[in-house]
Amino acid sequence: MKSFNIPDYYRSTIVSPLKELRRKRDKLKRDFSPTLLDFGPVQILLARHFGFCYGVENAIEIAYKAISENPKKRIFLLSEMIHNPEVNGDLLSRGVRFLMDTAGRQLVPWEELTQDDIVIIPAFGTTLETQQKLSAIGLDVERYNTTCPFVEKVWNKANQIGQKAYTVVVHGKPTHEETRATFSHSKEAAPTVVVKDLAQAQRLAKYITGELPREQFFQEFNGQYSEGFDPARDLQRIGVVNQTTMLASDTQGIADYLKQVMIQTYTLLPDEVERRFANTRDTLCYATNDNQDATYELLTNKADFAIVAGGYNSSNTSHIVELCEEKLPTYFIESEQKILTPTLIRHFDLHQREEVVTENYLPTHEPATILLTCGASCPDAVVEGILLKLVSFFPNARSLATVMTDIQQSYSA
Ligand code: SF4
Repeated sequence: MKSFNIPDYYRSTIVSPLKELRRKRDKLKRDFSPTLLDFGPVQILLARHFGFCYGVENAIEIAYKAISENPKKRIFLLSEMIHNPEVNGDLLSRGVRFLMDTAGRQLVPWEELTQDDIVIIPAFGTTLETQQKLSAIGLDVERYNTTCPFVEKVWNKANQIGQKAYTVVVHGKPTHEETRATFSHSKEAAPTVVVKDLAQAQRLAKYITGELPREQFFQEFNGQYSEGFDPARDLQRIGVVNQTTMLASDTQGIADYLKQVMIQTYTLLPDEVERRFANTRDTLCYATNDNQDATYELLTNKADFAIVAGGYNSSNTSHIVELCEEKLPTYFIESEQKILTPTLIRHFDLHQREEVVTENYLPTHEPATILLTCGASCPDAVVEGILLKLVSFFPNARSLATVMTDIQQSYSA
């Protein structure tokens, strides 16, 4: 895979070489088992896949290039480039400004922009409406467009099934930048509706079967359907695509469910299913799949707790947290600074949507076993900081050099 030129301070002298070691040993990605860092009184199990993906590295490379190529110009990012506070903070410190927040609220009025400005499109892509606004100002929207090719792949898939007269059902978070962008592109080719989860897919099914009156649809799916959408007409042939960072099992569950609804509603024989339900397979990206599969494998190991690092508004990271929470105590943190002391950790509670402090998170027994991973937008340097902070609480821990040598020997054996 292409390698990108990103600032060294996002890399790690511990984590990045370990990833490379595992990658070289397993180029076909068949081994999803974690890497054990055995420090003696504390053992860290590092997931096989995590951290910066293709799309994120591509976006970071382009953003820093935009800064270095335009020292005298005002540089704007449409919104957070990726959902990571370290990366966004660093860009802000270099004078980059956000035009919108993650919910799409305007921070800098469009009227303030001139054709001399530089605007960077984030990895999630953007809506056609925003692209048109920028072009109307005279801005070049392609020059620093960091839209991930895996997001564009979803747009293409939506387009393809739209051309075959299917309605597009997008499984995604309705307010997430990527889903808003996908919705915007999809609606050009097909009637489009967004469902956020299985419960909403089940509600949508009631309009497919005609159990609920069409008028109620407009209220229930307010803001989630394309203009002119008619549930009586537009739910007779459907296909499902998804925001690239959803939980694979959730998307599969929704697609399987809606397929069954179509089969039962229209009494379809197996070879007739495609008449009503497009075969899209899931449109998750490779990084989401790899990270989720590596998390499942990580969770087959017994441990005292898990730490998941990443931005609190990162969709792919939140799903990894959800998977871990099902199995063991899990702390979702932005960086090692949230590990306050050996007895206190400040972490994000996904359900209350706020940071909370937990006491006595480290076990009293030794060895303590900790699962460690992060989302696709989190730098390796952040994971390194967390790892070193945890190990620092164990004065009798083996040295990092010894642990790294052991690992290198075990993988070259
Ligand atoms: S998570 Fe996937 S879709 Fe999103 S930026 Fe990374 S590679 Fe692209």
